Amino acid sequence: MNDTSTSFDVIIVGGGPAGLCAAMYCGRGMLRAVLLERGLTGGELLNTEKIEDYPGFISILGPDLAEKMTEHAVHFGADIRTEDVLSIVRGQDGLFAVTCSSGTVFRAPAVILTAGGTPNRLGVPGELEFAGKGVSYCAVCDGAFFKGDTIAVIGGGDAAVEEADYPTRYASKVYIVHRRDAFRASRLVQERALANPKIEVVWNTKVLAMVGTERGLTHLDLENTVSGARSQLAVTGGFIFVGFTPNTGLVQQHFEHDPAGYILTNDRMETSIPGLFAAGDLRVQLTRQVTTAVGDATTAAIAVEKFLTARKSKG
Ligand code: NAP
Repeated sequence: MNDTSTSFDVIIVGGGPAGLCAAMYCGRGMLRAVLLERGLTGGELLNTEKIEDYPGFISILGPDLAEKMTEHAVHFGADIRTEDVLSIVRGQDGLFAVTCSSGTVFRAPAVILTAGGTPNRLGVPGELEFAGKGVSYCAVCDGAFFKGDTIAVIGGGDAAVEEADYPTRYASKVYIVHRRDAFRASRLVQERALANPKIEVVWNTKVLAMVGTERGLTHLDLENTVSGARSQLAVTGGFIFVGFTPNTGLVQQHFEHDPAGYILTNDRMETSIPGLFAAGDLRVQLTRQVTTAVGDATTAAIAVEKFLTARKSKG
């Protein structure tokens, strides 16, 4: 292992909006910070077409906002490195060792975990078999492959109902298949989808299987959750948006979390592990928006400064 350095004040794990905002604040606070991200910076912004609820931008493309946030962080000195983090361990000396697949180990007395979440699988037969052959977890990335087709979006939260809109510019018809008779998505998002003539909702229906040939997905096997009636829906695309799981598995020690695995923090974004802060989608909270992610990150970065000052004064 290359033990690169012990000289960081804080390591930020994850380069979505929360990570970039934390890096920007740490830079302005003159902390020696490093941000580790395995892919492009921007996180979920890169999978979102338009953002219309970020103050200052009535409408901005997700990737454009990602670029602006990255530029902003770099402007204030963010040290962003492409690294795939494997584990985060707090040692007896109070220093964290953040180990990466490159063999590099980063060390610091504080870590801000901003690693977001991973889309949940539906867990039905055919889902994995047709991944990339009709089954997708990103409408913005794959919507254009379905020109003139009939496709289905599965789920009833903000992600499903909002993302159903994007492929309507390519597909001739988009079904939203939802297991209940009401969406969980916010009212504005629902109203917009329901007003789109290409979108039709299949209520009270669960997907039993995703079926196709070697060329790709051809239909979904469905079951009505009220009557139990079975049916088939002919589609060449199946976009799955059934929530996501927080990426907290990197942390090797026990930390307090809710039953779904989201990290519990106090109002300073401190977790139950001293020196480990969490911000953004992986934290227990009412809602997960870009605005809440950057709010968390602001608090976390400022709380880290205070944590480091208190640590130094203890000697
Ligand atoms: P979510 O809010 O947890 O919704 C998940 C949806 O998938 C629910 O409708 C749920 O059905 C359904 N579902 C879960 N498991 C299922 C299964 N096995 N089979 C069929 N359906 C299943 O997740 P999300 O939409 O990914 O959003 C995650 C967070 O990001 C939320 O806090 C959301 O507000 C936020 N977000 C916000 C925006 C925005 O405001 N612009 C956009 C995207 C995401 P039930 O309703 O029956 O439980």
